[in-house]
Amino acid sequence: MNITESANQHWQQRADKVLVGSYSRYPAAIISGKGCRLKDANGKDYLDFLSGIAVCALGHCHPAVNAAISRQAEQLVHISNLYYTRPQIELAEILVAQSFADKVFFCNSGAEANEAAIKMARIHSDARRYKIISLKGSFHGRTLATVAATGQPKFHQGFEPLPEGFVHAPFGDLAALEALVDDMTCAILCEPIQGESGVLPLSKQYLQGIREICNKFKLLLIFDEVQTGMGRTGKLFAHQHTDIIPDIITLAKALANGLPIGAMMTTEDIAASMIPGTHASTFGGNPICCAAGVATLQQVLSEGFLERVINQGQYLQKCLARMTGCFPALLTGSRGKGLLIGATLTSEGIAKGPEIVDKMFSRGVLINFAGNAVLRFAPPLTVTKDEIDEMCIVLGEVLLETEKSRQNTLQ
Ligand SMILES: *Cc1c(COP(=O)(O)O)cnc(C)c1O
Repeated sequence: MNITESANQHWQQRADKVLVGSYSRYPAAIISGKGCRLKDANGKDYLDFLSGIAVCALGHCHPAVNAAISRQAEQLVHISNLYYTRPQIELAEILVAQSFADKVFFCNSGAEANEAAIKMARIHSDARRYKIISLKGSFHGRTLATVAATGQPKFHQGFEPLPEGFVHAPFGDLAALEALVDDMTCAILCEPIQGESGVLPLSKQYLQGIREICNKFKLLLIFDEVQTGMGRTGKLFAHQHTDIIPDIITLAKALANGLPIGAMMTTEDIAASMIPGTHASTFGGNPICCAAGVATLQQVLSEGFLERVINQGQYLQKCLARMTGCFPALLTGSRGKGLLIGATLTSEGIAKGPEIVDKMFSRGVLINFAGNAVLRFAPPLTVTKDEIDEMCIVLGEVLLETEKSRQNTLQ
C-alpha cells in the first residue's frame, strides 16, 4: 500500500484489477460488523439500514447464528444429497410447521429457488403447459429463466434470446392479467411486495384477484418471498398478512442470516411431481447453511419478535412522515410493511435520490435507492428505536442540505 492511499482505496484498486465489474460499489471495504453496525478498512463506522439487502435480519454476526455455524463446522461441512442430514431435516420441519407447505426443496439463492418453482410449475402441469405470467416491475433473479420472468426490460438487454414462455402483466390490472392466460399457461408468479422496483405492495384485493384467476384456469400461484419472507414484514411470510394460500413460495435472502441458501416450498400434491432425478443441487441444503437457518428461525419465531418488527416499522414510518412534513419538495410519504420501507419521492426527489443515498453513505448510514423510485430502508429486524432516531437525524441533515442546494439552483 502506498502512503497516500487509504486502506479503502487500496482494496478498491486491487478489486478493480481482478473482479468482473458487474457491480457499482461504494468506495468502502467492509471488514467487520456487529448488530446494525459495520466498520470499513479505514476504521469508519456505519449504521446499516440495508442489512445486505434484507439478508442479515438478525444483524451482523449474531451470536446464536455464529454458534450454530461453528458447532456444525466442527461436525460436518458438506455431504451430498445422496444422504440425509439433521440440519436440513430440522430446517424443513420448522418451515413446514409455520406455513401452508408440506414439502421443501433447498438450493443456494433466490434465483435458484425461483428456478425450482418454475421447473415445478412446468413439470406439475398437465398437457405440457409451460407459460408463466409475472408482473411488470417484478424482480425474480438473474439466471436466464428468472431474468426472463423479471418484468423489467433493462435486465433483459444483451441476453436475448431468453427462454420462452414468460409474459408480463401490467401492474395492478387484473383484467389485463386474465387476458394473458392461454391454453399453455401453468402459473402466475409475483412478489407480495415488489422489493427491487421500489417497495411496491400488492393490495390484498389484487392478490385475492390473482388467486381467483389461478383457481379459474387451474394455474399455480407462486409467491416470490425471497425478500419479503423471514419476518421482514412483521409476519414470517408476507402473504400471511392475508388469508390467501399460494401453491408455492420461494425463500432465500434472510433464511440463514447471511449464509447462502434458498428454498422452494409447496404442497404434498405438487411436490409429488418431482421424483428422484427431476431436479438437484450439489450444495442445496448444506448442513452449515441449514444449521444457521434453524438458529435464525428460532430467533425470528421467539416470543414478541415479530410484534417488535411491526412496532419498529411503524416507528420508522412515523419518522419518515415527519421528514415528509419538513421536506415536501423532496418526499411524498412512505410505503411498505414491517421493516421493508420505501420513502416515496417527488420527481425532484427522484432526481436527487442517488445523491441523497451517497450523502447518507458519506455520513455513515447505509440505505439505497430502489427502482428509481424510493429510498429503501431494510435494517436488521433487531434495530432499536435509538438506531432509528440516529438514522433519522442523519436523513434530516442530508435532506436539509439537498433542499438548500435545490433552492440555490432555483434562484
Ligand atoms: C433478491 C431477490 C431475488 C434473487 O435472489 P438471489 O439470491 O440474488 O438470486 C429474487 N426475488 C426477489 C424478490 C429478490 O428480492
